[in-house]
Amino acid sequence: MTPSQPAEQTSPQPAQAAPRIAIVGAGVSGLVAAGRLQAGAGKVSIFDKGRGVGGRISTRRTEQGSQFDHGAQYFTVRDARFRRVVKNMQADGVVAPWGGRIAKLERGTITPSSENHERFVGVPTMSAVGKWLARDLPIQLGTRIAVADRLAAAWRLTDTGGQPCGDFDWLLVAMPAPQAAELLGESAPAIADACRQVKMDGCWAAMIDFPEPLPLEFDGAFVHDSPLAWVARNSSKPGRPSQRESWVLHAGPEWSEAHLAEPAESVADAMLAEFYRVAEVATQQPSHLAAHRWRFAQAGKPLDEGCLLDAELRVAVCGDWCAGSRVEGAVLSGLAAAERCMAAR
Ligand SMILES: Cc1cc2nc3c(=O)[nH]c(=O)nc-3n(C[C@H](O)[C@H](O)[C@H](O)COP(=O)(O)OP(=O)(O)OC[C@H]3O[C@@H](n4cnc5c(N)ncnc54)[C@H](O)[C@@H]3O)c2cc1C
Repeated sequence: MTPSQPAEQTSPQPAQAAPRIAIVGAGVSGLVAAGRLQAGAGKVSIFDKGRGVGGRISTRRTEQGSQFDHGAQYFTVRDARFRRVVKNMQADGVVAPWGGRIAKLERGTITPSSENHERFVGVPTMSAVGKWLARDLPIQLGTRIAVADRLAAAWRLTDTGGQPCGDFDWLLVAMPAPQAAELLGESAPAIADACRQVKMDGCWAAMIDFPEPLPLEFDGAFVHDSPLAWVARNSSKPGRPSQRESWVLHAGPEWSEAHLAEPAESVADAMLAEFYRVAEVATQQPSHLAAHRWRFAQAGKPLDEGCLLDAELRVAVCGDWCAGSRVEGAVLSGLAAAERCMAAR
């Protein structure tokens, strides 16, 4: 593959210097890759457009003191490498098992879930996971990278304000596939094409505080035959304020995609009404009701590649969609990207 951009001058690199590595995206995959690369390869610089780290592992706080894990709800562990990461986080008190009662909710019938995976959550919020992964890493927040130019011997990054963000020997793009495709479309067209093949569905999340506890015998439920796909009593997770009755509802991918352009207020109302219907509880005036639109929540058909790499262009792409659409996949994808970049140097 050849670079599609013309050769340009860039700042010279002293011989034998540690490679300068840019990582765009400080979600789980980017942070894991950054930690591994910083320990093993060279100097990393991380950029994220958000106000905080963690990406889709995220917690929304309100002025009234409520908190909602409105992205990833919990994570399960299958792979031995991920288990080691989780054990370290657990030892530092950053994650804990969630013993919530999980059910299946279908046409007014509540059946306890037969799945008995151990479910972990961040403590005291899901966002603790990203903060732990980000410790000791140099991260520039509030910086959306708009252009990644492949020059003769470097990647040059520019933010949306036209400000230069530096020249780098390697570029690691750690974000949802459609966003990676957009960033790399001009400069790494083959990788961008591979990213374009992965469709990621949106997800509407509703965040609700009820004044009174709901008389429901579950703390999380997979919902069938409904616009909703998942509902959870956020306040049942360890370390959350237990005096509150806080719930997070997720709409399913089809309903979310069909309503993606609608105003958050009307979506929140519709999701709350559907929750009352499927859970068959008496209605209450919520003390807090809001909805958040995740434009690229999860890939229905993730790749099984670990990561995408073009060693000639010195660019890699990682994210959950490369390895299974979950937190565990994001961690494994970040590790794969770091290891493949180091092997290709
Ligand atoms: C509603 C929802 C529910 C979920 N539920 C679960 C669950 O229960 N269990 C589970 O295991 N997983 C769940 N997931 C999936 C899980 O959240 C993801 O697998 C994981 O967080 C993905 O991490 P990532 O690093 O691949 O991507 P992300 O977390 O999306 O990180 C990408 C980062 O890139 C940044 N970024 C993007 N473009 C740019 C740019 N141009 N410049 C700078 N920064 C940029 C973003 O701000 C973001 O921080 C859920 C996800 C959602 C949305």
